[in-house]
Amino acid sequence: RNFEDYNLSDEIKRALAVLKYEIPTEVQSNVIPLAMEKKDLVVKSQTGSGKTASFGIPICEMIEWEEKKPQAIILTPTRELAVQVREDITNIGRFKRIKAMAVYGKEPFAKQKEELKQKNHVVVGTPGRVIDHIERGTLVLDQVKYLIIDEADEMLNMGFIDEVEAIINEIPLNRATMVFSATLPRDVESLCHKYMKSPINIEI
Ligand code: AMP
Repeated sequence: RNFEDYNLSDEIKRALAVLKYEIPTEVQSNVIPLAMEKKDLVVKSQTGSGKTASFGIPICEMIEWEEKKPQAIILTPTRELAVQVREDITNIGRFKRIKAMAVYGKEPFAKQKEELKQKNHVVVGTPGRVIDHIERGTLVLDQVKYLIIDEADEMLNMGFIDEVEAIINEIPLNRATMVFSATLPRDVESLCHKYMKSPINIEI
C-alpha cells in the first residue's frame, strides 16, 4: 500500500513527504479510506502505531480553509498528548495552512480565549477545559464534522465520562465519530454504543 492510493490532495502529499511518511502503517491503511468516507470507527490500537496521522490525514484533507469555526475536535486524556496531536496536525496541514489549537487545564483561560477568537480549524483538548470553554461561550462546536476520542480507555479511567458526554452532545449528528483506545473495557464499549452510528471495528 501507498499514500498515492488515497486520493489525497497535493498539499497533504507534500506534507507527508516532508515528514518522510512513505508507507502507511497498518492502522493508517485501515482507517484512512474509511475516515475519508466519514464512517464511524472504533479503533483498537497502541500508541506508536501511527494512529495520530490515521485521523490527522483525513481531517486535514477535508478541512475547508474558509470556514471560521472549528471543523474537527480531538479529545485527549492529557495535556501532553493534546500538545503532541496539535503539532502532528499542524505538520500534516502545513501546506493547507491549517490552524490547530490545543486547550488544556493549568494554562490561563484568558490566553486560550483570545486564541479561540482567531480562526481555528481543529481544536485538540482535554475534556475539562474544553467543557469550560463551551460553557463560557468561547468555543462553539456547531460546525464540527469530525469528533475523535483519543485514548478513550485512559480518558474514562481518569473519570472524564460526564465531560466527554457533555461535549459530544454539543456536536451536530451529521459528524463522523472515531474512538481510539488501547483496550475496549465495558465503559468504552457503552460510550460507543450510545453515541455512534453502526461503527466499524478495527483491531490492529
Ligand atoms: P503515533 O502512534 O501517532 O504516536 O505515531 C508514532 C510515530 O510514528 C510518530 O513519531 C509519527 O511521526 C510516526 N509515523 C506515523 N506515521 C508514519 C508513517 N506512515 N511512516 C513513518 N513514520 C510514521
